[in-house]
Amino acid sequence: MLSKEQIKEYQTILSAKTPQEVISWAIDLLGVENVALASSLGAEDQVLTDMIMKITPDMNIFTLDTGRLPQETYDLIEKNSRHYSRRLEILFPERRDVENMINKYGVNLFYESVENRMLCCRVRKVEPLQRKLSSLQGWFCGLRREQAATRNRLEKIEWDNKFNLVKVNPLAEWGEKDVWDYIRENNLPYNSLHDKGYPSIGCACCTRGVSPGDDIRSGRWWWESSEHKECGLHIDKQETSSK
Ligand code: SF4
Repeated sequence: MLSKEQIKEYQTILSAKTPQEVISWAIDLLGVENVALASSLGAEDQVLTDMIMKITPDMNIFTLDTGRLPQETYDLIEKNSRHYSRRLEILFPERRDVENMINKYGVNLFYESVENRMLCCRVRKVEPLQRKLSSLQGWFCGLRREQAATRNRLEKIEWDNKFNLVKVNPLAEWGEKDVWDYIRENNLPYNSLHDKGYPSIGCACCTRGVSPGDDIRSGRWWWESSEHKECGLHIDKQETSSK
């Protein structure tokens, strides 16, 4: 475990570095076998996948299949396989946990209450991620500060108190234009839902398109108020507010 002082020092070192430099630096620090990219298959993670594949194609890149993803996301998984000539690792929730949850609360439990929605996110996303991260020393995420009020204090490197490892956010200070410029300049595959008004994409049942100018995460769990709009993957348990 890194001390608070070490993390502070690393944050200073990384503050002026480009995303590619942050990735290379973190790999040197932790070792390629001890880190992985958790790809949500969103635009930011397509950028990180490409940067990582160009720096070190040996790094593990994985995604979570909740069982409720849009078809367009599955199509992107296949496009990625062809583009990079390799498959992402795909993690699934525990079958028994899903069965117990659905049989107790129903297939659309997430619309009933914030508690039910958080339970579903925990079973389908957080627990599979936790299992994976327990074998790693660091993980890369495509989070950006401007994505949400809950992320405006994001640093390029942090200690992840929830999962007990280093969390690296190479795109922390990028804007949306930077992301899409990179995708277009490098001709990367991306989720076709982005062209239909979906700036942020999660499970099909919990994501809808937004109007131009709307908050980019307003289509996620749109029936909830904004302070709840995290799925539990990026909430620091030692903080009172989510990151
Ligand atoms: S986004 Fe919706 S369907 Fe997906 S895990 Fe969370 S609550 Fe369940």
